[in-house]
Amino acid sequence: MALPKPRQYTGSITKKLQLTKTVFQFFIQNQQPNPLLFTPGQYATFIIDPQTRRQYTFCSAPNPSSFELIVDVSPMGVGSRYFLERKEGDRVEFLAPFGNFTLSENPLKKVFVATGTGIAPFRSMLLNGKEISNCSLYWGLRYEDDVYWDQEFQTLAGQYTGFQYFLVLSKPSQNWQGLTGHITEHVLKNPSFIPTHVGTSAGEGENLQNSEFYLCGNNAMITEMKNRLSAKNVRNERIKIDLFY
Ligand SMILES: Cc1cc2nc3c(=O)[nH]c(=O)nc-3n(C[C@H](O)[C@H](O)[C@H](O)COP(=O)(O)OP(=O)(O)OC[C@H]3O[C@@H](n4cnc5c(N)ncnc54)[C@H](O)[C@@H]3O)c2cc1C
Repeated sequence: MALPKPRQYTGSITKKLQLTKTVFQFFIQNQQPNPLLFTPGQYATFIIDPQTRRQYTFCSAPNPSSFELIVDVSPMGVGSRYFLERKEGDRVEFLAPFGNFTLSENPLKKVFVATGTGIAPFRSMLLNGKEISNCSLYWGLRYEDDVYWDQEFQTLAGQYTGFQYFLVLSKPSQNWQGLTGHITEHVLKNPSFIPTHVGTSAGEGENLQNSEFYLCGNNAMITEMKNRLSAKNVRNERIKIDLFY
């Protein structure tokens, strides 16, 4: 399916929500031109100043007149400072839609692996509802204080039996009861890859080959995950990547 060509848009920030110490969620009303058509997984390029642009991925389900973004301002470069200073009612200029980190139309199980704000494209895909009955989401964050949207994903996992959700913290406090460590370790450990022949590498292999992996976030996670998947003979064309930094 051909994706729409990018155009320049003006939007207005209708709500700015602080999710954690450094992550903000923006609700943006698209003003001109209408409608804005995007496919989950795509992003917008914001015009910070005439010489500077930064990319942010849509984290809401497609809607012609409004969308949501999450911005982690911890890098504190021009993009972070721009969004930190933006307030409700401000206008923003951006070009959209861009990118081909979109869901393939095939019966393969979709495995989403995200670090940090790399969760954005997967939330858009999940809220759009297309593949939610045959997918797993693995989300890696550092501390308990970094967590947001956990309840939302847990609710979805409760509603859709084919959707599994795993939150993994790499630096939790001693009180943390959930999964810990690097997210990449957990993806291949999960029982969803050994459902029929528990403990046999054949069962694991068979299920891995029926899956398609979508990786989004930082370079270290993506490189490590790719290496682990390659070691299990998952072909490159079954691994889609969206590198944020
Ligand atoms: C296709 C695409 C989609 C993106 N979508 C999002 C999104 O939805 N939400 C979002 O928050 N960011 C997203 N990013 C990253 C974003 O475009 C900027 O790179 C980020 O906001 C930093 O911009 P800056 O001007 O503040 O810092 P810069 O001065 O550009 O960068 C400073 C340093 O911080 C590093 N860096 C960038 N992001 C992070 C981070 N999150 N944590 C730690 N270090 C980082 C950069 O590699 C660089 O070394 C996306 C990037 C790409 C390429």
